[in-house]
Amino acid sequence: EGVWRISRLAVSVQDDPGKDFWDISEPLLKEIAKILEFPVSSMLPPEAFTVVRKSFDARKLQKEPKFVYTVDMDVHKLLHVEPRTWEFISELEPKNGCLEFLHFDKTFGDISSIIRECQKIKESATSAEVVHSNHITGSEHFSATRKPKVVVVGSGPSGLFASLVLAEVGADVTLVERGEAVEQRGRDIGALIVRRMLQVESNFCFGEGGAGTWSDGKLVTRTGRNNSSVLTVLNTLVNFGAPRCILVDGKPHLGTDRLIPLLKNFRHYLQELGVTIRFGMRMDDLLVNGETVSGVKISDSKGSFDSSSQKLGCDAIVLAVGHSARDTYQMLLSHNVNVVHKDFAVGLRVEHPQELINDIQYSGLANEVQCGRGKVPVADYQVARYVKGTDTSILSNMEPVTRSCYSFCMCPGGQVVLTSTDPSELCINGMSFSRRSSRWANAALVVNVSSKDFEDLNLTGPLAGVEFQRTFERKAAMMGGGDFVVPVQTVTDFLDNRLLVTSVPPSSYRLGVKPANLHELYPLHITEALQRAISMFNEELPGFISSSALLHGVETRTSSPIQITRRSDTWESTSLKGLYPVGEGAGYAGGIVSAAVDGMHAGFAVARNLGIYDSSL
Ligand code: FAD
Repeated sequence: EGVWRISRLAVSVQDDPGKDFWDISEPLLKEIAKILEFPVSSMLPPEAFTVVRKSFDARKLQKEPKFVYTVDMDVHKLLHVEPRTWEFISELEPKNGCLEFLHFDKTFGDISSIIRECQKIKESATSAEVVHSNHITGSEHFSATRKPKVVVVGSGPSGLFASLVLAEVGADVTLVERGEAVEQRGRDIGALIVRRMLQVESNFCFGEGGAGTWSDGKLVTRTGRNNSSVLTVLNTLVNFGAPRCILVDGKPHLGTDRLIPLLKNFRHYLQELGVTIRFGMRMDDLLVNGETVSGVKISDSKGSFDSSSQKLGCDAIVLAVGHSARDTYQMLLSHNVNVVHKDFAVGLRVEHPQELINDIQYSGLANEVQCGRGKVPVADYQVARYVKGTDTSILSNMEPVTRSCYSFCMCPGGQVVLTSTDPSELCINGMSFSRRSSRWANAALVVNVSSKDFEDLNLTGPLAGVEFQRTFERKAAMMGGGDFVVPVQTVTDFLDNRLLVTSVPPSSYRLGVKPANLHELYPLHITEALQRAISMFNEELPGFISSSALLHGVETRTSSPIQITRRSDTWESTSLKGLYPVGEGAGYAGGIVSAAVDGMHAGFAVARNLGIYDSSL
């Protein structure tokens, strides 16, 4: 009995059924037999094996790009179908890095089933024990008639996952979202792209699903794919309609077209659990009683504040407002909530023809991509370098500042989109559909910035980073000439600090581009760091520097410019009890999955503090 995990199984592109297949193929079975040192691969029954990971490895050190698999072998199933293998299996020994016996269950369910399982165990315990466990939490006792009330502000990944946990454990949850539900949000985004009408409360950043909805939907995270919280989030997404391949794919990706139905399912499920969802409602203020929050003031985000404001009393507030809620940050300061500025990164978004990136990454195999319909995935890239700047720092004895420059949020087969939330500001990002079939590949190229950069512009205080972003977003809007037209420059001209190419190559950005010298945008040391980094990236990706590559300005909202500090034990704000800052906007996540994980853990923390649940994941 038990499971053996078999890794590093490489199958050539020629032999593999292709990127959209996760079955145990004959060539894969042959590779499994090789690692197991099993003499006859055809004797191994495919049903005993499950693919747990499949990646495409096109690294340049490889002689030839390959699909690389990790597979689990269920000994029970194997012996059930093929008992003759018994002796062989009983003598298997672990092999470094490619064969491992799993002593514990590495499979994870979705949040709801995990919570239900825990509740079942709890229900089967004696009532005395239940009373005891409630007592352990030492918190207010909520009876069946008085459920604790929780207001979750923001329906991005962090707010949705916090709501889900809290509703499953029996809290009375109201989810307040300033933007619209995906159906109306889709129409608002359509009007923006076609008629240049920016709805300040319903756009690429605000609305159901948060900033991650009209996105690339990459589900990668630095936390690691095998982390139990990440697996729980991915399983929950599958439960709401994401394809199962996200559990297996080395670089899981959804795309906007899959995210929208998933979010509708998520919403309906929350409503079935009794969550009240208030779209088009903005939280304008906190209600505070001494050092504890007691509720929120909300208003119709389309109406005026005074005419429509309402008060919602509650026992806890989950603040999941994302990185663009600048008005909310300002409001927090008026209540002396502890907010500190934090380092982030700014830069430009580069766009290449996708064919060029396919050629750079795959050379001879590039024709296997076929606009996302082929055997191999549309090529992406990830580059990062440290660059010595031309500016110096007192902290390092006036040594040049070293800056990290890296590609960020790369969208193969995608398009550049407008992520402004105010018509006087201009900032961009990238999105794609599940097929990733557009002609373009875009990615942010960014440089880290810190308090020294803010001080250079005389910006101080907790919101210095926000003002820093705003400065360049306004500048970019002016350089584009208004109407959300984006200033652009070819990579070759940017490196030479000139504007020779005035008839720029086409861009996927739908609201128009205008040639400009992007050297006029950022302070010199940021521009120079970007120039140097691009030259270094070209060593890794020869052809990256090209006159068909277009830089777009500006990419400023890479992550939150602030952190709303919270206690490590209770997850509450360090200054206000009952306030739980979560997700990207609070400075604790970056990306869809990490925001969802943070929201999920925050949900458990709130539930523990309210005494309605005493387990965690
Ligand atoms: P958000 O998703 O920003 O959600 C916050 C929500 O709070 C918003 O819906 C907002 O309307 C609401 N809100 C704000 N203030 C208030 C208020 N006062 N009252 C009521 N509601 C309020 N990440 C990835 O991992 N993969 C990707 O491929 C990817 N692509 C992206 C593409 C684009 C175009 C953008 C903009 C982002 C992308 N990201 C991607 C980043 C990702 O979307 C975010 O990291 C993630 O959504 C953060 O989740 P969150 O819940 O913390 O905040």
